[in-house]
Amino acid sequence: MTPTIQQHLFRDRNDEPLFHHAARMALDYSAAALTRNVYPTDAALAGLAAFDEDIPQEPQPAAAILEQLHTYGSPATCTITGGRYFGFVNGGAVPAALAAKWLADFWDQNSAMEVISPVCARLEQVVEGWLTSLFELPRGTAAGFVSGSFAATFCGLAAARYRLLLRQGWDVNAKGLFGAPPVRIVTCVQAHSTVVKAISLLGFGSEHVEWVPVDDQGRILPDQVPPLDERTLLILQAGNVNSGCYENFVLLGAQARAANAWVHIDGAFGLWAHVAPALRHLTAGIGQADSWAVDGHKTLNTPYDCGIVLCRDRQALTAALHMSGSYLVPGSNRDGMFYTPEMSRRARIVELWATMKSLGHRGMAELIQHLHERAKQVAAGLQAEGFAILNEVVFNQVLVFFETDAATQQVLAHVQQQRVCWCGGSVWQGKKVIRVSVCSWVTSEEDIALTVNSFRAARLAVGTHGGPQLPEVA
Ligand SMILES: *Cc1c(COP(=O)(O)O)cnc(C)c1O
Repeated sequence: MTPTIQQHLFRDRNDEPLFHHAARMALDYSAAALTRNVYPTDAALAGLAAFDEDIPQEPQPAAAILEQLHTYGSPATCTITGGRYFGFVNGGAVPAALAAKWLADFWDQNSAMEVISPVCARLEQVVEGWLTSLFELPRGTAAGFVSGSFAATFCGLAAARYRLLLRQGWDVNAKGLFGAPPVRIVTCVQAHSTVVKAISLLGFGSEHVEWVPVDDQGRILPDQVPPLDERTLLILQAGNVNSGCYENFVLLGAQARAANAWVHIDGAFGLWAHVAPALRHLTAGIGQADSWAVDGHKTLNTPYDCGIVLCRDRQALTAALHMSGSYLVPGSNRDGMFYTPEMSRRARIVELWATMKSLGHRGMAELIQHLHERAKQVAAGLQAEGFAILNEVVFNQVLVFFETDAATQQVLAHVQQQRVCWCGGSVWQGKKVIRVSVCSWVTSEEDIALTVNSFRAARLAVGTHGGPQLPEVA
């Protein structure tokens, strides 16, 4: 007799070796991550064809599913948990958080409400307090635990929209935006693309933004900021995704407060500078803002995904993200869904809590400082090899240029082909650049030395002025 689906699933559930085997595969992957190629080989990418199959008619054994995933999936990963992944701003993962995540995976909690998960509600409440004290934000600051800084900025801007319109007698939840009084959006031309996305999704319209020019590092020019008023939403950033630069929060924050404008800070990776004493000058004045977006999964090294919105005006945040229904009985403490766009949500707070507890205040400070030191090491090493560094390395971002746009792109292509490390490209002040973003606790001095060697090999392959030029890489 063919087993029923329930019998099939119970067999998997009771297959303890299956779960031990999964753990074994994960640990083998983790051990190899320190030495394996950082980007998948061409063979591994070709192997992904193994997934191009029709949905099976019959239930499949879990062991075979796992085997397929490890055989064809693991090799086609980017090795983000190793020491030489410098693409985008992608952090590593603190071990205690990975282990905690395993346990919480078996809990399978839904963080929407206290009554659905008392433990998640309590951890969210605890971490809200930890973050407020760590970033020295106003007492009572609210935190929402979302997927990343895009979602966090979306929530912060939604809170601002609610408050700025209510001040003008307009309840945006009920009346919407058609016919609403105006809200001004002021931000810089270097705002992160996710900020522009949030502006569009919230119905402000990117054409209504009053764009402020920036200096050579990407910082807002304070004397170019238009007069602010109580209808204005000013969006600043702590950590430009290319240069890593920070705005003058002391000056701009004071101006905004005097005008009763709302300030949102996109501090996706950069807000963490605040926990490292030697870097805290970068974030001076952030406490004057009204809302903040910050990631766990970048410089703090929580596993994916983990973003946080922080908001001084708790009422505005929960009103903007409100929901109600006859079957939804609010808890006496914290219901996570009033702080995020989603209702159902995984228990990502477990990893954030575990990461912060594992590192402790001192460990967080040391980790953040470590990322900065390794970034300076990359910059110095590459400069000694004849590369130009186009930014002031104030935090963990390094922008590399080699002689011409074409030569820079060729070096990048060679570096990517070697797979010793992985970096992406960008455009900075009209020049093609290579972005090196140091984000992992794993990255050692040795990793940086290997990375510099890889750049040297790439430079030699490309040749200098007058040397043999490879065809331009598209
Ligand atoms: C990464 C980044 C974002 C987007 O964050 P996600 O976590 O990917 O949603 C926004 N702003 C800045 C400055 C970033 O570096």
